[in-house]
Amino acid sequence: MSRKIERVLTIGLIYPELLGTYGDGGNARVLCERARRRGIAAEISPVGIGDDVPDASIYLLGGGEDGPQRLGADLLRRSSFSSRVRNGSYVLAVCAGLQILGTSFAVEGDDEFEGLDLVDVVTQRGETRSVGDLVVRVGERDLVGFENHGGRTTLGAGVEPLGRVERGRGNDGAVDGYQTTNVWASYAHGPVLAMNPWFADRVLERVLDLELSPLSTVADQLYEERRAKLLG
Ligand code: GLN
Repeated sequence: MSRKIERVLTIGLIYPELLGTYGDGGNARVLCERARRRGIAAEISPVGIGDDVPDASIYLLGGGEDGPQRLGADLLRRSSFSSRVRNGSYVLAVCAGLQILGTSFAVEGDDEFEGLDLVDVVTQRGETRSVGDLVVRVGERDLVGFENHGGRTTLGAGVEPLGRVERGRGNDGAVDGYQTTNVWASYAHGPVLAMNPWFADRVLERVLDLELSPLSTVADQLYEERRAKLLG
């Protein structure tokens, strides 16, 4: 750790009952644990249906089925979430979460629903569902995970993808997710931060605005093994 940390990392886990189908709540636990192992106090605030969205250093949105996804989007639209994100709170969004932050998304029956319009992206229904391993080249690193979605996402001009797809589909077979100054989004489940400890640390460093000391855990070894197997 490069300097003494006085503040607490607060992690807002958005609607785990709706957006927890694929185990993405594990991303909160990984951030919390990797912060604590560096001596940084961290706590998870699960945000339930009907709760106000509290202030947090980072919000996590996971994947979910179409109905719960639509309900989650409606609830968030009526909450303080969007204004907090516009004011700079960080977000990590996966799959349904990625789609909700966009302008619109299509779920069952091809109906189009309004997203939160925080990022200029549109999700339409694909011909086939994308299910399987996903590997994304993010800068100089590979992000591994699995995907399970029916949506195809198109980025608006000027929206930067999270990375280039090396295996699987991601948004459209070419790129996966998106990134802005305070949002990371991906189609990768895993949970993605458990499968990619390097990415968890990248997120933590940005949110905490500090350089973290390296950490060697079994997750780091498993990442290397999984990556080698998927790309080998
Ligand atoms: N319901 C969305 C879709 O099928 C998201 C699925 C998910 O979160 N895994 O595209």
